[in-house]
Amino acid sequence: MSSPVPLRCDCGAVAGEIAVSPGAGNHCVCFCDDCQAFAAALGREDVLDAWGGTDIYQTAPAHLRITQGQDQLRALRLNPKGLMRWYTACCKTPVGNMMSTPRSPFIGVISRFIALDAEARDRAVGPVTSWVLGRFAKGGCPPHAHPKVPLSAMPGIAKLLLRNLITGGHSPSPFVVDGAWLVEPELLSPEARAKLSPS
Ligand SMILES: [Zn+2]
Ligand SMILES: [Zn+2]
Repeated sequence: MSSPVPLRCDCGAVAGEIAVSPGAGNHCVCFCDDCQAFAAALGREDVLDAWGGTDIYQTAPAHLRITQGQDQLRALRLNPKGLMRWYTACCKTPVGNMMSTPRSPFIGVISRFIALDAEARDRAVGPVTSWVLGRFAKGGCPPHAHPKVPLSAMPGIAKLLLRNLITGGHSPSPFVVDGAWLVEPELLSPEARAKLSPS
């Protein structure tokens, strides 16, 4: 049993939904430098919290549907081994992070793309259960965060990955067509990436 959570970019050109069911996802906040750099690359530091954290709902790509504006999806990679970081061309709303293969069984949907206020979102996908990589946070590691990734978060992440692998969570995916990425990602040059580093 699942109930859809609405997705929408800031301008409304891109919309869709996530099928959410108990245990199918993981709600976290990531303070890492790459997530901060991604927001900076889009000129969208406004999606970050006061410590530079990105609110993310991790699930399987197969649980996402884009019902409108799929042609506006773009991807950015911060380095040649970096995640596929999806966003919308229309209004630079961050969409989600995937591993670097179209067979990625995993996507971290950026909560900004979820068309619910924080309270309704937490009711729909569950509350944040981990605050990770706090050592990169602005102004030092927040009291509620772990400096790296806490061991207590590992079983949840492993379970999610395994479940997604077993259930074929990589497909169908709004980001993949015939086994290839929907669009070729833009790769940042090392110089461009260095400019985005949080100091
Ligand atoms: Zn838009
Ligand atoms: Zn991150």
